[in-house]
Amino acid sequence: MPSFATEVKNELARSAGKKKCCQNAELAALLRMGASMLIGARMNLGLNFTTENAAVARRALQLLKATGQVQPEVTVSRAKRLKKNNRYLLRIAPSPPVRPLMEELGMLGADEGTVGRDRALLRKQCCRRAYLRGAFLGGGTVNRPDAEANLEFIAGSYAFAHTIVHVLKNMDFPVGFTDRKNSYQIYIKDGEEIMDLLAMLGAPKAAEELAVARNLREVRNQVNRLVNCETANLQRTVNASVEQLAAIKKLSEAGVLEGLGPKLMAAAQARQAHPDFSLAELGEVLGISRGAVSGRLKKLLAQAAVLAAEEK
Ligand SMILES: [Zn+2]
Repeated sequence: MPSFATEVKNELARSAGKKKCCQNAELAALLRMGASMLIGARMNLGLNFTTENAAVARRALQLLKATGQVQPEVTVSRAKRLKKNNRYLLRIAPSPPVRPLMEELGMLGADEGTVGRDRALLRKQCCRRAYLRGAFLGGGTVNRPDAEANLEFIAGSYAFAHTIVHVLKNMDFPVGFTDRKNSYQIYIKDGEEIMDLLAMLGAPKAAEELAVARNLREVRNQVNRLVNCETANLQRTVNASVEQLAAIKKLSEAGVLEGLGPKLMAAAQARQAHPDFSLAELGEVLGISRGAVSGRLKKLLAQAAVLAAEEK
C-alpha cells in the first residue's frame, strides 16, 4: 500500500495546473529538490533528476518537455529487494539549451540569493502555489491521517529552504524551521493548517481524508469521555453500596434490624439481594422512588453510626 505522502503526491501530480507561468515556478522548485547539475564538454550543462515516485517522475517529465527547450531521457532502476521502491532517473544530456533554461529557473548559483532569483517566478499568487506544489512533490512528506499531524518540506539548500519559509509565511501558514547537517526542515504541525495547505496545493481529496480522520478522533474522544464518566458513576454506586452493606450487616448482627420497621427492613433486604444496583434500580425492586430509597438507606447508615458510637 502506498504511504499517505505518496497518495498526496499522486493527487498533486495529477491535478497540477496548466498555466505556463505556474509550470516554470513548479519546475524550478521541483528541480531544486531533486536535481543535480551535470557539466559536459565545452562547459555545457546537463541535469539529473531522481525520484522514487512514478507520478512525480511523470510530472517532472511533462514540465521539462513543456519548456520546449530540452529532451529528457527516462530510465527506471527496478527495486531488487522487496519493500524497496523503483528509482526514476530523468536525464538531460549536457547541451547548449540547458544553460539558459537553468538560468530562467534560477538553478545557477542556487546557493546564494535564491529568493532574489525566484522573485520573478513568485510574483503571482498562482505561481507561489505552484512553487510550493513543486517543492512538496520533490521533497515533501506528510503523516498518515491517523498519526500526529505533521507536514514537512526537506530542502538541501539553506537559500531554497528560506524561500519556502518566506512563501508559506506570506500565506499566513504557521511554519517551523530546523537545520540538520545539510538538510533543512520546514514543518507545519497544525492539522487544520495542513488540510488548508494540501487543498490549496491541489490535493483536496487528501485534505478530506485528514478531515474525516480528525472527526473520527474527536468522536472517539467524546465516547471515551462518556465511558469514563459512566465508570466513575458506577464506581460511586459500588462505593456507596459497600458502605450500606457494612451498615446493614452491623445492624443485623446487633439484632436491631427488625426493630427498625418493615420499610427499612425491606430496603436492607433489597440492597443485600442486589449489591450492584443503583438507587433507581432498587426503587424499581421496592416499588418506591429513587429519593425514598436514598432516604431509607441513609436512615440505615445513621442507625449503624449510632450503634458504632455506643460501642465506643
Ligand atoms: Zn502562475
